[in-house]
Amino acid sequence: MSAGARFVHLDVMDGHFVPNITIGPAVVGALAPQVHEAGGVVDVHLMIEDPDAHLEQFVEAGADALSVHVEACPHLHRTLGEIRALGASPGVAINPGTAASVLTEAVKFADYVLVMTVNPGFGGQLFIPEVLDKITQAREMLPEGKALEVDGGIGSGNIQEILGAGANWFVAGSAVFGADDPGSELQHLRELVA
Ligand code: ZN
Repeated sequence: MSAGARFVHLDVMDGHFVPNITIGPAVVGALAPQVHEAGGVVDVHLMIEDPDAHLEQFVEAGADALSVHVEACPHLHRTLGEIRALGASPGVAINPGTAASVLTEAVKFADYVLVMTVNPGFGGQLFIPEVLDKITQAREMLPEGKALEVDGGIGSGNIQEILGAGANWFVAGSAVFGADDPGSELQHLRELVA
């Protein structure tokens, strides 16, 4: 946070919607006060089946922004409305194999769109270049003022290209935490998109 991160993105995985299991509300709750004290936003990305059953827990744990996957939400309008009613900012996420066209209606009810640039489930994967076109399509669909977040395989070698495609929130995991000096790498990424 002191190196300039604006938000901390927490990937919640359940071993069902994605193969891996990561963190739950307890860890979100442990991290959220530190992020808030530093003036940051807690951005929780739910890669889980039946996210509706867990929305309240994650907002209570400190999530400011909460994204759910189109692929996991048969009643997306209701889910996004529920997130907003709980007091968090609703986001809608799509996998690399899902067309941008599914966002046509959803963008009306979400504050931001999250385009996955790897298949969700593990850190350290390579960016899928074919997704760049979809970032541009999603940007064109988004009303002004709504954010376009990208997540997966983002680093100094591609962040400017992704910015050019229309993204304005960048999630970087391995690129930052795999660097010798995570703070200076984060600053470098920020300079590249400044
Ligand atoms: Zn994520």
